[in-house]
Amino acid sequence: MLEAFEDALDFSEQVVCVTGAAQGIGETVAASFAEAGASVVVADIDADAAATTAEAIGAAHGTETLAVGVDVSDSDEARAMVETAVAELGGLDVLVNNAGVAGAQRFRDSEPEDWDRKIGVSLYGTLNCTSAALPELVDRSGVVINYASSSYRGNDPGLAVYGAAKAANRSFTKTLAKEVGSDGVRVNCVCPGTVRTPATEAFVEQYADELPESYALDRIGEPADVAAAVVFLASDAAAWITGETLHVDGGYSRR
Ligand code: NAD
Repeated sequence: MLEAFEDALDFSEQVVCVTGAAQGIGETVAASFAEAGASVVVADIDADAAATTAEAIGAAHGTETLAVGVDVSDSDEARAMVETAVAELGGLDVLVNNAGVAGAQRFRDSEPEDWDRKIGVSLYGTLNCTSAALPELVDRSGVVINYASSSYRGNDPGLAVYGAAKAANRSFTKTLAKEVGSDGVRVNCVCPGTVRTPATEAFVEQYADELPESYALDRIGEPADVAAAVVFLASDAAAWITGETLHVDGGYSRR
């Protein structure tokens, strides 16, 4: 049984594309897949940072890595990202729609351009990359992993638009899973609580004393907590799991 589980977590024949992978959770997700043997596409709007991260991951784990500069909110760029991955690495088995932007701002102070950016990256980015990748994933036991956030519940003033985009990702995950299951494609979603990344650095520092109190496990998350869940859901160990959202949030909120 344990051997079978170990085999299931071997990605050595697989190509994995992680968006927003230059830093933060995405970087650790990409590194974890590389550690599991996958060839990894480090895709990010910051092409230079993606190149640096891809090189570091390749050097650390001895796997093939490819950096791709992409704005996931642009459907043509998303399609080009998938085409490049397939041309350079021979196919695509796993798409991780990690790219997302939050940026706390009360709704009444926000403008349509702010909504475009947040929904553009967090929701349209997921739709664009998934649409581009699906033809590659069909019949390869392909996997899509989407991202929600605890903010989807609507409990975080300042994150109304971001939370709405993340709620949409949950719904999209469930419906798409039903549409593509018979094509051999699984679609799941992770829903992190607060995780220590460059995006949350200032917030985490400001509320260092209070934040752990909201978590049953007395701490906020680290990128590796989310990466472990993503790798599991993408693996054959999760072969009969689809349409699910896995909360990776240390028991948020215990109050
Ligand atoms: P981060 O800001 O540290 O990293 C995000 C990466 O995405 C950056 O490298 C950035 O350049 C890239 N990116 C931004 N816009 C892009 C675009 N248009 N196209 C391609 N790449 C783009 O973020 P993080 O904290 O690591 O979050 C990663 C994911 O996890 C996001 O979807 C976020 O919403 C979600 N999440 C994070 C937390 C948290 O507490 N950190 C909690 C819940 C959900």
